[in-house]
Amino acid sequence: MDKIIDGKIVAKKIKDGLKEKVQKCEKKPALAVIIVGDNQASRTYVNHKKKDCEYVGFKSVEHSLPAEITQQQLLDLISRLNADNEINGILCQLPLPGHINEKKIIEAIDPKKDVDCFHPFNIGLLTSGSPGFMPCTPSGIMELLEYYDIDVQGKECVVVGRSNIVGKPMALMLLSKNGTVTICHSKTKELPSVCKRADILVAAIGRAKMINSDYVKKGAVVIDVGMNRDEEGKLCGDVDFEDVIDIVSMITPVPGGVGPMTRAVLMQNTYKAYQGG
Ligand code: NAP
Repeated sequence: MDKIIDGKIVAKKIKDGLKEKVQKCEKKPALAVIIVGDNQASRTYVNHKKKDCEYVGFKSVEHSLPAEITQQQLLDLISRLNADNEINGILCQLPLPGHINEKKIIEAIDPKKDVDCFHPFNIGLLTSGSPGFMPCTPSGIMELLEYYDIDVQGKECVVVGRSNIVGKPMALMLLSKNGTVTICHSKTKELPSVCKRADILVAAIGRAKMINSDYVKKGAVVIDVGMNRDEEGKLCGDVDFEDVIDIVSMITPVPGGVGPMTRAVLMQNTYKAYQGG
């Protein structure tokens, strides 16, 4: 269907490009992946990331830790990985158990190895317009827009969601491409009519199929970041795909849209870290 923005195709192109580069490397780039506890979704994400590493030719080193680990033990591990010259990138899969302060963990990772681009130093660089690493999900979305020739300049862009890892950096990146950007959240009034202004609508909410035809302008490009389960336990996005497909000009499906791109950018960032940031 020509309305579909296919993240699998674009992600594969990125990974194939990296694979070619890695074949010429003397040493394999290495990503350390930390997973704490037995959250099923986290396990699935980590497995996908390890598969991607394998595909492009990176080494991935998993540190699987019990949920009861103390914050200090986790900080000690990060400090060892920061000092380990054999490790280029460090990823700590979120969410962490409630007794661990995620902010402290994120801030403990050496910004030069922060391939998720969560560290305030890297977010600061992004904000000031000279990014080092790129935040994986929003950067993957920007790559999709570019691949499909969707020009952002002068467009009304509405981002629903203001998280540090998706909504906020997404808004910054659209702004840097000269979009006119509105950020919405749970306290936004008249959300459907604000969304209906959008030429480019990004949903990063975490609520299954919330964005229906009441929120979408005819001809809009809709980017669905959400990863939710519907009533039947099936993976779905924040957008009610069936309800909006006749209205949109283009849309990312779930699965197969933003998700693969997030992982492809993680691989790009790891390669960048390998090259020295
Ligand atoms: P998050 O930290 O929970 O943030 C959700 C945002 O949505 C918040 O800013 C919240 O507003 C807003 N929100 C919640 N309910 C709302 C409502 N009824 N109306 C308007 N805004 C509302 O989530 P996240 O980490 O950004 O992730 C969002 C979704 O994307 C999740 O489904 C997640 O699984 C998915 N995700 C996917 C990928 C991928 O690669 N595909 C990557 C990351 C995340 P407040 O700030 O006011 O609370």
